Amino acid sequence: MMPARDSSPVLIAGAGPTGALLAILLERRGLEVRLIEARGDPRTQADASGRSINLALADRGIEALKRAGVLAEIEPALIPMRGRFVHPLGGTAHLQPYGQRPNEQIYSISRRRLNATLLGVALRRPGIEVLFEQRLEDLDGVTSEAEVRDVGSGVTRRFPMSPLIAADGAGSIVRRRLAERHLIEAQESDLEHGYKELSIPAGPHGEYRLEREALHIWPRGGYMLIALPNEDGSFTATLFLPMQGPSSFASLTSAAAIHAFLSGAFPDVHTLMPHAVREFREHPTGFLGTVRAAPWHHGGSTLLIGDAAHAIVPFHGQGMNCCFEDCIELDTCMAAGGGSPRVFDWKRIFEEFYARRKPNTDAIAAMALENYLEMRERVVDPRFQLEQALALELERRFPERFIPRYSMVMFHHEIPYRTALERGQVQSQLLAELTQHAARLGDIDFGRAEREIRARLPPLTSA
Ligand SMILES: Cc1cc2nc3c(=O)[nH]c(=O)nc-3n(C[C@H](O)[C@H](O)[C@H](O)COP(=O)(O)OP(=O)(O)OC[C@H]3O[C@@H](n4cnc5c(N)ncnc54)[C@H](O)[C@@H]3O)c2cc1C
Repeated sequence: MMPARDSSPVLIAGAGPTGALLAILLERRGLEVRLIEARGDPRTQADASGRSINLALADRGIEALKRAGVLAEIEPALIPMRGRFVHPLGGTAHLQPYGQRPNEQIYSISRRRLNATLLGVALRRPGIEVLFEQRLEDLDGVTSEAEVRDVGSGVTRRFPMSPLIAADGAGSIVRRRLAERHLIEAQESDLEHGYKELSIPAGPHGEYRLEREALHIWPRGGYMLIALPNEDGSFTATLFLPMQGPSSFASLTSAAAIHAFLSGAFPDVHTLMPHAVREFREHPTGFLGTVRAAPWHHGGSTLLIGDAAHAIVPFHGQGMNCCFEDCIELDTCMAAGGGSPRVFDWKRIFEEFYARRKPNTDAIAAMALENYLEMRERVVDPRFQLEQALALELERRFPERFIPRYSMVMFHHEIPYRTALERGQVQSQLLAELTQHAARLGDIDFGRAEREIRARLPPLTSA
């Protein structure tokens, strides 16, 4: 017999970072949660995907982990990154600090360790059931049940959607099913560039072969390589390259061509990547893109969250941070919209969540796309560097009105993405105007800067 609807657990599809964190938050709110995951348990099984081994965690993600009470367990695995270490072709490598206060840094974290820690916490909670190797395959709108197949046996079971929260990632089957049935609109826009992960092993004594506390970038105009530190002295490098064209994933196929490309484009780091050619040929090429859906829910029975609702390109290092912020926002909507602790008006909560969140996720999607050009090209441009230096100086002088856009996104969870985008547009115009005839900071007319800032940027507290 089916359990009574009100007593059914909330069903979360996907136990990635979003699903695992959300399960913890919902359980803390007094709900029973059933979390189903298509893959095996990351705490005990090797990862077959070969993808995205480490991620940059920033203030928004940290704040969410803190609010869920799990930060203390994750903190030991965090490696601070104080700035971007830029490696120009033929120039001198140098650190461009991300911010100017000691806490203005981001952190490299192993995706696997983060996910496993969140799942470990979830599994200790009495109200959370986690079922691995269970793939959600379809939705039955008539009975309001999800069809879930056991990956090992092939047997299909049905679970009540009371409700179903889909945290099944960028390729979300739930989003695709809802869109096929015209219950929502969804669009997946692929970038013409893809990515491949390569490794920079530790030295013979486990030492880091590059500066440890930095995110390394080799900007090359049409493409770039980045590297983030791991705990064991190695770095995970990611090559972002066009999918088609002269220097592309499609054209670089033979070992000789790959070797010639890597050694020509990245001569300094290529020598630190002894397995690069093999890895290039064996590791999967990842697709990048932006997912847009509207709305993110179907009535009160189904909600999309995290990458399933709004996957973005990774150039601002915000995808997972944004997903974690989603979880906190949903929790906040539940706090505001709850009746008795266990009876929630899901339709109202989902509507509220979507209305509050969508303008912000649209904003970070736009900023993430813009940031690709900044990382692969502009960071080596002296004009960009002058604008960055001026932005930090203006923040020192007018901290209540001017905060560099990167800092608003990465270090200020209290500033919504939408506000960062809008203020960032004004600031960018202002920086261009103030540096128009300047070669160095000493040439800047700070009297004019002050007048313009007071006229065009209201104090942030009232923004
Ligand atoms: C190259 C790259 C670099 C990135 N770097 C950063 C970074 O530095 N900082 C950052 O914040 N973000 C980064 N991101 C983004 C980040 O990885 C994602 O935003 C984040 O993983 C999304 O979490 P999620 O749980 O919503 O989805 P996912 O991580 O995709 O997890 C979805 C889960 O659902 C499971 N699943 C899928 N389908 C089903 C199904 N039908 N049934 C059951 N389970 C299912 C999957 O197995 C998976 O475990 C990067 C992304 C890429 C591609």
